[in-house]
Amino acid sequence: MKVIVLGGGVIGVTSAWYLSRLGHEVELIDRQAQCGMETSFANAGQVSPGYSTPWAAPGLPRKALGWMLGKHSPLVIRARLDPAMWRWMMQLVANCNEDAYARNKSRMLRLAEYSRDCLGDLRVETAITYDDRQRGLVQLFRKQSQLDHAGEDMRILAESGISHELLDVAGVVAAEPALGRVAHLLKGGLRLPGDESGDAHLFTQRLAALAQAKGVRLRNSATVYGLRSEDRRITGVDTSFGLITGDAYLAALGSFTPRLLAPLGIRLPVYPVKGYSLTIPLTDPDRAPVSTVNDETYKVAITRLGERIRVGGTAELTGYDTRLRAERRETLELSFGELFGGGDLSRATFWTGLRPNTPDGTPVVGNSGRYSNLWLNTGHGTLGWTMACGSGRLIADLIAGKRPNIEYEDLSIARYA
Ligand SMILES: Cc1cc2nc3c(=O)[nH]c(=O)nc-3n(C[C@H](O)[C@H](O)[C@H](O)COP(=O)(O)OP(=O)(O)OC[C@H]3O[C@@H](n4cnc5c(N)ncnc54)[C@H](O)[C@@H]3O)c2cc1C
Repeated sequence: MKVIVLGGGVIGVTSAWYLSRLGHEVELIDRQAQCGMETSFANAGQVSPGYSTPWAAPGLPRKALGWMLGKHSPLVIRARLDPAMWRWMMQLVANCNEDAYARNKSRMLRLAEYSRDCLGDLRVETAITYDDRQRGLVQLFRKQSQLDHAGEDMRILAESGISHELLDVAGVVAAEPALGRVAHLLKGGLRLPGDESGDAHLFTQRLAALAQAKGVRLRNSATVYGLRSEDRRITGVDTSFGLITGDAYLAALGSFTPRLLAPLGIRLPVYPVKGYSLTIPLTDPDRAPVSTVNDETYKVAITRLGERIRVGGTAELTGYDTRLRAERRETLELSFGELFGGGDLSRATFWTGLRPNTPDGTPVVGNSGRYSNLWLNTGHGTLGWTMACGSGRLIADLIAGKRPNIEYEDLSIARYA
């Protein structure tokens, strides 16, 4: 079977890899000159199944109102006359209750845990490296209230069989010695020893090269304009290289997937949530994380990537606007400076990307429902790197008609019907 993969971010490339491994002919199309140049370019670098949590949580609307008043708020909403944005926000609020939170979190954990296992297998199979480390994650609490709220997440982690440990300040410093300097700022942490870190961009590019060596055709610098259909089947894709045809089509265009699907009558509840990162050259390893840390106060992730430190975070609802905003950089610098500081900020690179978020936090992986040969793998939001290998392997199995290794029915777009 010939499968056309639309999108060469971390999701499209992992999908292409697993499809090719199952023996399919694969052609991947991406508008950028190389793979992994948009949202997969400079994310926070966490492969964090243990931290897989939907934003839609009980109490979020109240918290969001409070955040919006603060200078360093983790969430910014720029009101727009965009019905898709308001629809998405209403769906998100509808998920802010305990039942939905527990359901969404447990299916995110299922996919993310599977994904971490698939990534481990891939490392063994291909010897791929990507400034990766397998040293866990520390969620850092600076306030007693943050520590008090860890109980609910720990209950779900325990139910899902995910190892975790609640740390006092000494435990945090033992896990991340550079935090010893600022122990007085801390109240404790939650350590997820099974979590990992690594550069998603490096991974995407290296896996794309491995896939190409196995016969996957990479068609970069090619823009997808739209899909042609006939009798509930996709018959081709119009691109800047002309019409390209295959037997099956996989849409993995991140935040741009809803725009491709809308003319086909498919309303995909994926909306861009803008985030920012700083990539800082390492100057002092003793003042840098050994692994990856989440600063709960600013919702900022700080990760060691080889000789660099990646600081990522903030969420802005502002449509497809990718302008860099100086005040967002200040928040990243503040969190990094207060906790670590072992990097040269004057040589840092500031970046922004659009997370493809669903309102319930779970990606959309499965058949499109309307067109038998159109498949979707998108909507990974804050966790696309974490869930990439599992989602790629799952969609490849589904397209091939193979029984996947995990439950998958509740991951498809059918849950929004
Ligand atoms: C600041 C920030 C921090 C993050 N931190 C983490 C983290 O620590 N851990 C984690 O798991 N996740 C993290 N994420 C989320 C993660 O980066 C994303 O979920 C993931 O990169 C999405 O991958 P994707 O392949 O779906 O999208 P993309 O990487 O955006 O890929 C989509 C591809 O489609 C192509 N494309 C789009 N439209 C067209 C078109 N019309 N024609 C041709 N090609 C097209 C683009 O060129 C692009 O390459 C973070 C995101 C941000 C913004």
